[in-house]
Amino acid sequence: TEACLGAIEGAGALNAFVHHTPEIALEQARGADARIKAGDAPAMCGIPVGIKDLFCTRGVASQAASRILEGFRPEYESTVTQNLWDAGAVMLGKLNMDEFAMGSSNETACYGPVVNPWKVDDRRLTPGGSSGGSAAAVAADLCLAATGTDTGGSIRQPAAFAGIVGIKPTYGRVSRWGVVAFASSLDQAGPMTKSVRDAAIMLGAMASHDPKDSTSADLPVPDFEAALTGDIRGKKIGIPREYRMEGMPAEIEALWHKGAEMLKDAGAEIVEISLPHTKYALPAYYVIAPAEASSNLARYDGVRYGHRARLGQGDGITEMYEKTRAEGFGPEVQRRIMIGTYVLSAGFYDAYYNRARKVRALIKRDFDTVFAAGIDAILTPATPSSAFGLGEMANADPVEMYLNDVFTVTVNLAGLPGVSVPVGLDARGLPLGLQLIGRPWAEGDLLNHAHVLE
Ligand code: GLN
Repeated sequence: TEACLGAIEGAGALNAFVHHTPEIALEQARGADARIKAGDAPAMCGIPVGIKDLFCTRGVASQAASRILEGFRPEYESTVTQNLWDAGAVMLGKLNMDEFAMGSSNETACYGPVVNPWKVDDRRLTPGGSSGGSAAAVAADLCLAATGTDTGGSIRQPAAFAGIVGIKPTYGRVSRWGVVAFASSLDQAGPMTKSVRDAAIMLGAMASHDPKDSTSADLPVPDFEAALTGDIRGKKIGIPREYRMEGMPAEIEALWHKGAEMLKDAGAEIVEISLPHTKYALPAYYVIAPAEASSNLARYDGVRYGHRARLGQGDGITEMYEKTRAEGFGPEVQRRIMIGTYVLSAGFYDAYYNRARKVRALIKRDFDTVFAAGIDAILTPATPSSAFGLGEMANADPVEMYLNDVFTVTVNLAGLPGVSVPVGLDARGLPLGLQLIGRPWAEGDLLNHAHVLE
């Protein structure tokens, strides 16, 4: 813990940790020490971790990287973080992220962007997003592991950009209680770690059935670490034809091939499969996610949480709402609220929102079909490229940024578990990741496949 606290102090330029909690860390570490000495050490006893700013942590700033939550100190603890403390983990502080988890480059944060510890010619690169602070902190050894959240790829894409492991569990595996909501039917928290084994241990600590989250599954949490046997003989790995996108860089194609060869060498069978509705996933996601976000973000009204705008003479409640929300939300969040409000409005609901829901059902059915046909896991690239430069997309059409999520959003729409594993470096020496998608509730088996790619 002390080594991590020192490393964090020396790494201010990365802008990964945005709220520091050294007193809490040292107190928890002392408690962990006592438990170890007493011979009663739970799974994560004494392991120092970073927490994405999206998780509510009691008495500690929890801002979702938004100005609108400035000054908000929750009086309650999220179930996931409570589970981690119960498992003996130690909190170093809160980690930077895209505002309300909307973004793929960590550039929408009210705290400014995070710098990826991986560099090319001193060019500053993005660690990806929205869990960019988590990815950078783990990659730079500021903590041993971090929490992330993933609505459309926000654990898996930054994990790939920073050369670490990240898993989004099956929807319902991990409680959403106390995690600031973005799109409730898609959001899941998960671990971001240096190895698949660490991910298995930390996911086991984070997961639980939680009556406070009505979508939390009432299922036992298996021993994910015990599943890491490295034996995948006879397993069937699907390679979805539709993920071979036009214009895909040759090195991503080569990486994908290399991953398939590694799984084959370990005794798995590689099968070409079809997920025919893949091309509709991105547009469906960018209707459903903003729709849910516009509803979830209605609660930030200047009364209940955080920031309230300074009001002028004669300003009433409407002006307070308008001024607070105009000042408090950044441009990307405002864009999502407007898109979401539009697609949910009476005249357009059927044309956009309802249609996107139907597409979502078809995407889920594509996966059900291949799993029913005996496929154990699906292998795809995690991202269409390696980390790009900070500011590089500043003047691009927002849709350019949304294209980063092309391989990851299907998994959220279908509620499936997906893991990103670092598999190699590109020609510039930057990490690249592959994604494995698993059957629902089979995170152990999925991590076992990922283990073979390490
Ligand atoms: N990049 C995607 C978005 O901006 C995904 C974000 C996430 O998974 N939280 O919506």
